[in-house]
Amino acid sequence: MTSALVKRLEGKVAVITGGASGIGECTARLFSQHGAKVVVADIQDERGRSVCDTIGATFVHCDVTKESDVQKAIDTAVTGHGKLDIMFNNAGIIDAGKPITDTALSDFHKVIDVIVTGAFLGTKHAARVMVPAGRGSIISTASVASVIGGVGTHAYTAAKHAVAGLTRSAAVELGRFGVRVNCVSPYAVATRLAVEFARIDEKVFEEAMSKFATLQGTLLKPEDVAMAVLYLASDESKYVSGHNLMVDGGYSIVNRALLSFDPSDLA
Ligand code: NAD
Repeated sequence: MTSALVKRLEGKVAVITGGASGIGECTARLFSQHGAKVVVADIQDERGRSVCDTIGATFVHCDVTKESDVQKAIDTAVTGHGKLDIMFNNAGIIDAGKPITDTALSDFHKVIDVIVTGAFLGTKHAARVMVPAGRGSIISTASVASVIGGVGTHAYTAAKHAVAGLTRSAAVELGRFGVRVNCVSPYAVATRLAVEFARIDEKVFEEAMSKFATLQGTLLKPEDVAMAVLYLASDESKYVSGHNLMVDGGYSIVNRALLSFDPSDLA
């Protein structure tokens, strides 16, 4: 029961991009349960508004590739609630998985634009208001594709590596102003982005992904990612900055190719 829990974000104000569905929606709900005032910034207006109505949050139409939209989202938080404590750059898309020779430049650009430009603009405009305040927590959603290849498309992998790089770069600059910058890197979660990419339904996706997972006996859910984001957003992580928090059950620390290696096969 949330009412029995300590509210870990009481009095804080958060902007969440891509908060209309999936990991972002789940995080918006969790932040709200923990006492934060939440602004959901997304291009899915109807869905975003309906999420906001159920949790008492504010919706703002925001295409994260457009600077004026991102600026407006941050300003909505500051105007409505007087400040911004938490920025969650979470909006993301993925292109169809194709060999690099068949990948259209326009598809590559689209993914880079939403994921990298989106995180850049979110970080830039959050910093604009957090630096004068001398505090703040900026979090981006990266992925296991931020540290290894072969688990996403070329554009997606390049984009997520860039998010991890931007996180470190911004953490270095903004640390002296008391602003922390981190990212979270989930393994596969059965959200719209993932199931549409895999072209299988949610249940089949979860089961298939769990077969390849390192950690067994449990499934990765949006709530698990949201809990990691909650930690980075709260004061409990007050000395954590420049970190890429893997929410992958150890998936990215192993080269699975050798797990099926049996020396007797060589005999
Ligand atoms: P999702 O499709 O449910 O959510 C993505 C959200 O981003 C949607 O609400 C969508 O409307 C929004 N969005 C897309 N383009 C936008 C734009 N230009 N401006 C504003 N909002 C935009 O999928 P999800 O899995 O919850 O994705 C959230 C983040 O998690 C993404 O960054 C994704 O890359 C990352 N991620 C997902 C997985 C996974 O397996 N699902 C794994 C690792 C990382």
